[in-house]
Amino acid sequence: MTFNTSLDNVSIYEAGKPIELVVREYGIHPYDIVKLASNENPYGTCPTVVDVIARKAVSSFVYPDDSMYELKEALASNFSVDTKNIVIGAGSDQVIEFCIHAKCHTNSKVLMAKTTFAMYEIYAKQVGANILKTPSDAHNIDEFRELYKKEGADIIFLCLPNNPLGECLDAKDVYSFLDEIDSNTLVILDGAYQEFASYKDGAKAIIPHEAISKYPNVIYLGTFSKAYGLGGMRVGYGIANENIIQVLHKVRPPFNITTLSLAGAIEALKHKDFVSMGITKNFTEMTRYEEFATLKGLRFIPSYTNFITIYMDGFVSKDVALELLKKGIIVRDMTGYGFNAIRITIGRAEQNDKVFKTLDVILENLKSNN
Ligand SMILES: *Cc1c(COP(=O)(O)O)cnc(C)c1O
Repeated sequence: MTFNTSLDNVSIYEAGKPIELVVREYGIHPYDIVKLASNENPYGTCPTVVDVIARKAVSSFVYPDDSMYELKEALASNFSVDTKNIVIGAGSDQVIEFCIHAKCHTNSKVLMAKTTFAMYEIYAKQVGANILKTPSDAHNIDEFRELYKKEGADIIFLCLPNNPLGECLDAKDVYSFLDEIDSNTLVILDGAYQEFASYKDGAKAIIPHEAISKYPNVIYLGTFSKAYGLGGMRVGYGIANENIIQVLHKVRPPFNITTLSLAGAIEALKHKDFVSMGITKNFTEMTRYEEFATLKGLRFIPSYTNFITIYMDGFVSKDVALELLKKGIIVRDMTGYGFNAIRITIGRAEQNDKVFKTLDVILENLKSNN
């Protein structure tokens, strides 16, 4: 059977390994597994959010409110925008898909950093678009500028901060770049980790209502999967000018968010204190990773997110990740990105204790085997 030939060079997204797989393959009790591969919130979500979701379960036989009015209201007030400026997706992943499908076709150009969120390329290739990547792995705004001037682009992705590396452009550099971009180019500001970056350094903070009022061609993406601890609920959103949002609604499937997800997200927005607690602890714990890496003589990328990418200098990152997995610790090997590094989501203190202890033994063993 033949398929859409655009799919010939699309790779399948490799998700972080689930706990269930480690239970099956290594016979480790789920309780002993430390999952630090998908940048979930290790503190979970606020207990009242769990209550609300549980109580909502009796309404599961009714289709959700397709207008998503209440969640849009809550987000609109949170970001000082109008509900007309908001589209909701099953994760911000789905909003990325909407943008690509609304804007791109065969031979469209999509510009991004060399090493960034894998889904940008996957969705773009699905419609046969051409991918333009900057020479540097991390975001280098001068390289973006140069490539854009030379090639143009239908869509530009800026991941602020960037997954999987953790670096983040300053907002002022993003804005001065936007000043030079044609209004027919859609610029996607992916703020999946903005809550973390803006806490660590105000210079990284992107204010969605400022960005969209100054730039008619910008869409800001946010998610409930990271700081809000609702990865399993699949809720994300896009904030842009109304003319963009209206077109995105043409490609949005009806009822793309479940009733339970909507209820959970609305409740989560009410508990900023819980979210702030997680963010504060994240950076306290991240310091411990930096100290551990330094002690071991391993380089790391300073991170504005809830994960840290550590180079496995003198080791093979794939081997290190596998040895960790055998001990029930799931991290992300970066070999597929062309990096001899592992990306570790910052866990809770006791999870991180286990990572340091286990990694220490693994590295010493691998060293003596060499
Ligand atoms: C996690 C993530 C997303 C979206 O996650 P969803 O769960 O689909 O909302 C988007 N962009 C980046 C860079 C991410 O890391």
